[in-house]
Amino acid sequence: MESLEAERERATDLDVAELADAIEAIGFECTRCGACCKAVEGCESENGGDEDAGGDDEAADGHDHTATVFPDEVRQLQETGDYDWRDVARPMPYGLVEGEDGPQGETFEWALQTDDCGDCRFYAEDDGVGACTVHEDRPLVCRTYPFSVALGGTSQPMGEAVDEEGMVRAHECEGLGRDISRAEAEELAEALKERAIREIDEAIAVRDGYEPIEREPGEVVVHDSEGAKRPDGTNIE
Ligand code: SF4
Repeated sequence: MESLEAERERATDLDVAELADAIEAIGFECTRCGACCKAVEGCESENGGDEDAGGDDEAADGHDHTATVFPDEVRQLQETGDYDWRDVARPMPYGLVEGEDGPQGETFEWALQTDDCGDCRFYAEDDGVGACTVHEDRPLVCRTYPFSVALGGTSQPMGEAVDEEGMVRAHECEGLGRDISRAEAEELAEALKERAIREIDEAIAVRDGYEPIEREPGEVVVHDSEGAKRPDGTNIE
């Protein structure tokens, strides 16, 4: 497997025009179905609907929406509504175990906070039409859904790709295959490249900064690119 440094070099060499070509060839238009913002089996599915919805990765804590959000993105989202850290992000559930008083253990990175239904807390629905209430400030992973690039150290939302064109992978989404303008494809391609570099930078920083932390029973520690943190986003010295 390539080192993260080699993958980063490949990410910086990505040609935005080529990525845009691939996105145009695959085709995409958001239908506002909300599937990428909702839990796999949220409140609606209890009534028999919404079985296809999903998050960024396959959720480890049931089927809640799970999209990675980086520390600076959390802070940016905090400013959209005078939010606390915990209003915006929760520890990524992978690696945590369910203790008597809730999840505990050590994990890496943050996921967008979810509501009682397991949907992204910024998702709102009006008459069946979904909307992101922080559209202008949404994280890179949301800006680029349903695409990813075929590079190690980057995230691959929704499991296996359903389509592939050059370095671009497309993941499950009902908007795939629809016409996209060149301008929109280029905008998506720019964001996709930015995200690939960002994700690898985060992975390198987490790898280089990782130090095991002695935890109290029931405590959760989150390692991100800025060090070890408590679930409220404060640093553990
Ligand atoms: S931040 Fe917005 S686009 Fe991203 S998952 Fe939440 S509602 Fe969807």
